[in-house]
Amino acid sequence: MLFSKVIGHATLKAKLIGNIREGRVAHAQLFMGPRGGGNLPMALAYAQYLLCERQGEADSCGECPSCLQTVKLEHPDLHLTFPIFLAEKQKYCEPFVSDWRTCVLDQPYLDADRWRDHLESDNKQLRMGVDIAQEIQRKLSLKSFRGGYKVMLIWLPELMDTAAANKLLKVLEEPEPNTVFLLVSTDAEQLLTTILSRAQLTKVPALRPSDLADALSDRFPGLALEEALAIALRSEGDLLDAVDMADQGEEELFVFFRDWLRSCYKREVGVVSEFAEGFQKLGRERQKSLIRYGLYMIRQCALQWQEVPELVRVLGQEQEFVQNFSKLLNDANAEGIRRELETAHVHIERNANPKILFTDLSYRMMGLLRMTAPA
Ligand SMILES: [Zn+2]
Repeated sequence: MLFSKVIGHATLKAKLIGNIREGRVAHAQLFMGPRGGGNLPMALAYAQYLLCERQGEADSCGECPSCLQTVKLEHPDLHLTFPIFLAEKQKYCEPFVSDWRTCVLDQPYLDADRWRDHLESDNKQLRMGVDIAQEIQRKLSLKSFRGGYKVMLIWLPELMDTAAANKLLKVLEEPEPNTVFLLVSTDAEQLLTTILSRAQLTKVPALRPSDLADALSDRFPGLALEEALAIALRSEGDLLDAVDMADQGEEELFVFFRDWLRSCYKREVGVVSEFAEGFQKLGRERQKSLIRYGLYMIRQCALQWQEVPELVRVLGQEQEFVQNFSKLLNDANAEGIRRELETAHVHIERNANPKILFTDLSYRMMGLLRMTAPA
């Protein structure tokens, strides 16, 4: 991937390229950042630049044989490691490399959910076991095909079992010349601290709203600039969320959420069960989007209620909703509403029955919305 294809992060890109040009290439590097911010694309751009045969001042050449292979994730010195659904006869990454390649080429901002959906193992845990750590060692024992760097990209190292992580640690402690590890992680807290301490940290933060809005406008020509910016703000710099919202129409989410809350407030039991039917039909990704959108709106309402309206980030008809709904929030219910939505999100990820879940959530909302502040 070219650096120019990675959204935003201009300063970081310049720094990474500068380091390589000055010969400062740490042998273990950790690209850390939240979902949808671009840690994986950044690491891929870094790998391509490292392997490029005609490095330019600001980017890989994009045309040399190495670039042509790296861009397809097929460079023989670019090794790919990622979590899979482990089973008796399923211990190594290698059989899944072409699947992973397809996923990343389709969406370089890939997250674990999408990868899991692709593998169709949504009830199972993605992991890397000790066999995968052995696979890493084996791959690195090969000579470099092109005589340059060997790059080992490890996506989501936080999903390694302890045994695997310890094995990886040994490899990191005895670096082979010209071998570069690129660890791409969204959750440093789950990583062994010993691994953390071995790797040079590159933080890839959430995208800036203006950068993300530009990227959305490029990708969705029908999207008004104001709308693109609204989505960028709401997604909080997460490209995957932003694309989902733009794709499926944020309007729909807003109307659904507003009308559902309204009927919860009015305790219209019949209408609420129609919403539960509707929720079920949305599909899992969309259900999660709706809940995340709801959490975002509740946060905006809380800011309004706490009288910091200058921090409220909404546009158009959402403003009216925030004005009105924030009046229902108080010390007795604000925290509870947020917690119920977060719990619902976790349960959807764990494949709870969406209709039952949403009905239950609705009844809880009915109670919470009618709560009044303690005197
Ligand atoms: Zn090149």
